[in-house]
Amino acid sequence: MKEFVVGWLYPDLMNIYGDRGNILTLVERARWRGLSPTVLELGKGVREGIESVDVFFFGGGQDREQALVYDDLLELKAEPLRHALAEGAAMLAVCGGYQLLGHYYQTAEGERFPGLGLLDLHTEAGQKRCIGNVVVDVSGLGLEPTTLVGFENHSGRTFLGKDLKPLGRVIVGSGNNGEDGTEGVAAGTIYGTYLHGSLLPKNPHLADHITAAALKRRGVIPLGPLDDALELEAHRRVRDRELAGRR
Ligand code: GLN
Repeated sequence: MKEFVVGWLYPDLMNIYGDRGNILTLVERARWRGLSPTVLELGKGVREGIESVDVFFFGGGQDREQALVYDDLLELKAEPLRHALAEGAAMLAVCGGYQLLGHYYQTAEGERFPGLGLLDLHTEAGQKRCIGNVVVDVSGLGLEPTTLVGFENHSGRTFLGKDLKPLGRVIVGSGNNGEDGTEGVAAGTIYGTYLHGSLLPKNPHLADHITAAALKRRGVIPLGPLDDALELEAHRRVRDRELAGRR
């Protein structure tokens, strides 16, 4: 049976608003397809096994938690992470984790946490938090449904460098910065987003997109179809409710 390794960055510190549901979704969908999934917990001080990871997950965290992890990220994990991603592993990073993929995250008090600089983006906190349900148009990714649904709660405003492509365009919600209509980032096998909820249970099409991207280098494609009637019904209900009551 083919191994499928999910690398969970800072499970004890960067894990809010149901982010753990993304790990469960990646693992269970791999199991349903006859793969042998394992979760490698990559907390502070741990870098062992990073080279074996197929999909990294980096969840969200309040400013306090981001302050607790960024030094370990830069000093211990940056180099093997960069190497694994260059080898074709995938990354899904949500909110606080997404912000630390860029050059820096600056808090509302002006404190700056340096990021991995993997992507040409930066984040600065605004005075008002962006909170609420979100609907994103991801037709640019060729996914079906062409939407993602989730929940956001962040003070950071993220700005993408000119060569970076967003994950999608905001239909409902603030997304990256509440100004330019973009949400998240899609750069090769690296996906960043502000969508908590958790994200993947109600967006199985994105879970498969990221898993397929990671397994491409191991020739495990295509992923067989699964019965997603329940997941997609939940997606549709949230989407249609939010579109009807647009904020
Ligand atoms: N602390 C960051 C912010 O407020 C990220 C928050 C989060 O991960 N939800 O923007």
